Amino acid sequence: MCDGSSDRPFFPHRHLLGIEGLSPDEITVLLDRSENYVEQNRRIDKKKSLLRGRTIINLFFEHSTRTRTSFELAGKRLGGDVINMSLSTSSIKKGETLIDTAMTLNAMHPDVLVVRHQSSGAVKLLSEKVNCAVINAGDGSHEHPTQALLDALTIRRRRGTLQGLQVAICGDITHSRVARSNIHLLLAMGARVRLIAPATLIPPGIEHLGAEVFHEMAAGLKNCDIVMMLRLQQERMHGGFFPSIREYFTHFGLDYPKLANAKSDALIMHPGPMNRGVEIDAEVADDFGRSVIREQVEMGVAVRMACLEILTENLDRPELRTN
Ligand code: ASP
Repeated sequence: MCDGSSDRPFFPHRHLLGIEGLSPDEITVLLDRSENYVEQNRRIDKKKSLLRGRTIINLFFEHSTRTRTSFELAGKRLGGDVINMSLSTSSIKKGETLIDTAMTLNAMHPDVLVVRHQSSGAVKLLSEKVNCAVINAGDGSHEHPTQALLDALTIRRRRGTLQGLQVAICGDITHSRVARSNIHLLLAMGARVRLIAPATLIPPGIEHLGAEVFHEMAAGLKNCDIVMMLRLQQERMHGGFFPSIREYFTHFGLDYPKLANAKSDALIMHPGPMNRGVEIDAEVADDFGRSVIREQVEMGVAVRMACLEILTENLDRPELRTN
């Protein structure tokens, strides 16, 4: 899958709306390109001018600190002009529809829109109405593709490959776009996926994606290489999904006794923001040897730089206009 004009591997999409449907080669293109930026981001001079003259708008209909900051840094480190628009300052509050907002922004000729929205499918809908590239920064409980890519980059750098690894994703699967994007990516790349959660927090039929479902941490974590914890997304819960936080932590919170079921060198991951004492014990979260939670944040900037670079390159490819 190479570009006709050079030997550079090519990502044949105009937008990055999700991981579902991407091939292993396409995912590898994104990860390999991200790798270039990890070292650059550790240098004193982090800036490049690849996106000089390009405008990136971070359009966040839902609150975010880390993802928005990460995209902002990524765009600025590549020399682009980055503008942040959040729900509280937008005209959505005044009643404008999603499509009207999209059309208004489109008229300002941005090159990339990075969009987070509380409704699943909203980012795709918006991408159909604009001329620029669109990156999904999280839509409802649907997908969060750059999170799955940064998780994969973190794992690949630690373990060399994703192929054959046993990964446990634990916690609030029902409300998690992180879980969905990770399931698609990990299975596409040859990892095995276990989902561990109370029955109330597992969407019916999810095993059809190819993951195994467990309702008990000890059995689910047995011999796992990677333990990925998820935040309890109480803001998306209407009704009682578990009796109490205390009981949830007792059964599903990651502490050392439960972790002892996984491989002794299993990596501990969490997409953040973390609820210490709810889904993860504070000491486990800070476990120097095994927790890669801060590394995930670092990889996030590199991944977002790669996505911005690749999608702006693709703006010059007319064959991707309808993609
Ligand atoms: N930051 C991630 C997201 O936006 C995970 C979380 O919020 O729990 O989906």
